[in-house]
Amino acid sequence: MKNFQIIRALSSKTAVTNISKEKEAMFIAGGTNLVDLMKKNVVSPDKLIDINGLDLKKIEFLKGKVSIGALAKNSQVAEDVSIKEKHPLLALALAAGASQQIRHMATVGGNMLQKTRCSYYYNTDMPCNKRTPKSGCGAIGGFNRMHAIFGASDSCIAVHPSDMCIALAALDAQVLVEGPKGKRQIKFTDFHRLPGNTPEKDNTLEAKELITSVEIPDHNFTKNVHYLKVRDRTSYAFALVSVAAALDLKNNVIKDVRLAMGGVAHKPWRLTEAEEFLKGKTVSEEVFKQAGDLAMKGARTYGGNDFKITLGANTITEALTIAASK
Ligand SMILES: Cc1cc2nc3c(=O)[nH]c(=O)nc-3n(C[C@H](O)[C@H](O)[C@H](O)COP(=O)(O)OP(=O)(O)OC[C@H]3O[C@@H](n4cnc5c(N)ncnc54)[C@H](O)[C@@H]3O)c2cc1C
Ligand code: SF4
Repeated sequence: MKNFQIIRALSSKTAVTNISKEKEAMFIAGGTNLVDLMKKNVVSPDKLIDINGLDLKKIEFLKGKVSIGALAKNSQVAEDVSIKEKHPLLALALAAGASQQIRHMATVGGNMLQKTRCSYYYNTDMPCNKRTPKSGCGAIGGFNRMHAIFGASDSCIAVHPSDMCIALAALDAQVLVEGPKGKRQIKFTDFHRLPGNTPEKDNTLEAKELITSVEIPDHNFTKNVHYLKVRDRTSYAFALVSVAAALDLKNNVIKDVRLAMGGVAHKPWRLTEAEEFLKGKTVSEEVFKQAGDLAMKGARTYGGNDFKITLGANTITEALTIAASK
């Protein structure tokens, strides 16, 4: 690992000022992803701006929304009594991630910016356009069991790894950021991006911008929700596919619905066509199965991940069935 310096920032303004002065500096929060990447020489910053002293840890219930500070720990949010009551989908998705020890260290902002778990990205002996632009992609034609079936490109077929972000995409969250040009807000579904021919860029943050909080608007998805994650082991495993399902039901009729998937694309994948199909329908296994099949239309597989089409459709059906039964 390369030698590096740490600078401790005590306000978001000084964090942004400090990072703006440096060419090869990065923010560090819980360090659960960044330190691994540094140990493997995938990233080699000269300076780390430690943001753990910033006042960005609060969960605040404001008029019409909840605001979650970027430095709130994943376990703190997952276990917050009011989050469990008002945003149970988010609590379930967070609890499905990593392990309790990692959730105690991992922060909301860091979780959103964690890097893909594509094994070629972590191995500096292998080609990877995301790590080294224009070096090629080891996964296309290689071991691609975990990889994308939607929105991939000829440059990169990696998937976004976070569980929390799948729920935030379903719940129409907003990301608040502060940078050298001031503060701004980004719609969650616009925050992560598809790879196109610039897979090295995971999101729409501009250089040196700091995530300060995430906001979720109030909604009626407080009962019939489920986050279903299919993985190789029950702990310490990323999703093969996952589904965030939220239903607003009246007399068994679907008044409103949100559906998003993980493990299938370079970003949290919102299933808007299936959502439209479900609105106004009466709950039934057949309707949920049709939604699952509809959502898989247009999927493209790469050999190792062919199974994700059937698995994806079945996981959607199951997640909706469990959500409706609560
Ligand atoms: C063994 C293991 C298993 C895991 N399993 C899962 C899983 O199943 N599901 C899941 O979702 N996650 C999983 N994770 C990932 C884990 O949740 C992330 O590593 C964690 O959320 C990252 O948060 P952090 O605060 O530690 O970020 P850091 O490692 O500190 O930072 C990550 C990135 O975010 C940047 N950053 C951090 N905070 C900010 C901010 N406020 N503004 C701008 N940039 C920022 C950093 O510069 C860095 O680039 C796993 C991790 C491990 C090690
Ligand atoms: S899928 Fe993306 S991250 Fe994985 S090797 Fe190809 S370019 Fe790299």
